[in-house]
Amino acid sequence: MTEQKSQELFDKAKRYIPGGVNSPVRAFGAVGGVPRFIDRAEGSHIWDVDGNEFIDYVCSWGPGILGHAHPRVIDAVKKACDEGLTYGAPTEKEVEMAELLSEMIPSMAISRLVSSGTEAVMSAIRVARGFTGRDKIVKFEGCYHGHSDGLLVKAGSAALTTSVPNSAGVPADFTRHTLVASYNDKDSVEKLFAAHKGQIAAVIVEPVAANMGVVLPEEGFLPFLREITKKEGALLIFDEVITGFRLAPGGAQSYFGVTPDLTTLGKIVGGGMPIGVYGGRKEIMDQVSPVGPVYQAGTLSGNPIATAAGLETLRILQEDSGIYERLEKKAERIAQTARREGEGLVSVNQIGSLPSIFFMPDGVKNYEDAVNSGKEEYAGYFHYMLEHGIYLAPSQFEAMFVSDAHSDEDIDSTCQWMIQYFQNRKKES
Ligand SMILES: *Cc1c(COP(=O)(O)O)cnc(C)c1O
Repeated sequence: MTEQKSQELFDKAKRYIPGGVNSPVRAFGAVGGVPRFIDRAEGSHIWDVDGNEFIDYVCSWGPGILGHAHPRVIDAVKKACDEGLTYGAPTEKEVEMAELLSEMIPSMAISRLVSSGTEAVMSAIRVARGFTGRDKIVKFEGCYHGHSDGLLVKAGSAALTTSVPNSAGVPADFTRHTLVASYNDKDSVEKLFAAHKGQIAAVIVEPVAANMGVVLPEEGFLPFLREITKKEGALLIFDEVITGFRLAPGGAQSYFGVTPDLTTLGKIVGGGMPIGVYGGRKEIMDQVSPVGPVYQAGTLSGNPIATAAGLETLRILQEDSGIYERLEKKAERIAQTARREGEGLVSVNQIGSLPSIFFMPDGVKNYEDAVNSGKEEYAGYFHYMLEHGIYLAPSQFEAMFVSDAHSDEDIDSTCQWMIQYFQNRKKES
């Protein structure tokens, strides 16, 4: 498999773009080697600039639940383009989108469109603070909520009282109000509420953590978060940027039957174009400008092309009642194959169309387990699969994104190469 053109582009890109990429994980830093520069994509397959074809399990990190270039979505985008790219004035499509969102996710009675998941989360937190009149928020270690200053934190040495920036360029003063708890650990949340009585505006959580690999919420964890936030007068924010429309038409909140106060969306909701959304019930969303005092704005918010792509994607998901079952079956086959063949080497978490293979045979239920799994072993696995035409996330801390476009043959081929990989590994040892 040649990678000459990718290599040339990467060398050139590094002269003009930090690390040669516009988002860090694309650089293959965690697995080594040359990132493949992509030429085109269709259905479940992508082609790189050297003409290599891959079955794609990144699917743009989640948006591609229908696969790439779904004909209906492409048509909707083309039609929207003919009508002009952006107006900076309201459009009918935005109203249709907000109405559809309130139908599919009833807790989002009122919603605001923005242009990325990062923006959605940043804004939802501002609203939670405005609504409660409190400053502090609780997030969980290993949950990712975009790259805004206040959320780039890790637990400090005295986790109860301190958190520290985990990026240069973030003043410690900006993360002072972000408290860090441990995923699936009720006790860590209770302690924070006890230590900061009446000061916590919101708890934000990925209802299924999918940015440290996939980590499922343990039985009772989400209902516990619902209960304690209610009791303490704080809001519960579900960051459903990945889980929204991925686990069910109504997201993780309908899947688990736990209703948050605010929800953030991204990825699938834009159908491959840049959209983020935040929303909740009227009383809370009435905080948002121009109705209320919480300022938030965007030149390209509700962009007609992006909204057309998102709307068409959501309509397809809403109309196709069998899609989530089909997705789950495919993901289950991958998960079961990895569990069976990789026994003793890996553990596999999976929910809906999100399988995740950790080189950590003892199981992964929080960030600590995830970071202790074998990164070098993952890199070996990644490159073996890539060499055989299967494009996995170039980092262990990411889900596999299965799409409706993945065929049975795609899944067969993926499983066969996984089996071969694990058999080779067992022979070696
Ligand atoms: C991807 C992601 C974000 C950030 O979205 P961007 O569109 O990349 O800014 C926020 N939260 C979660 C859970 C995500 O997976």
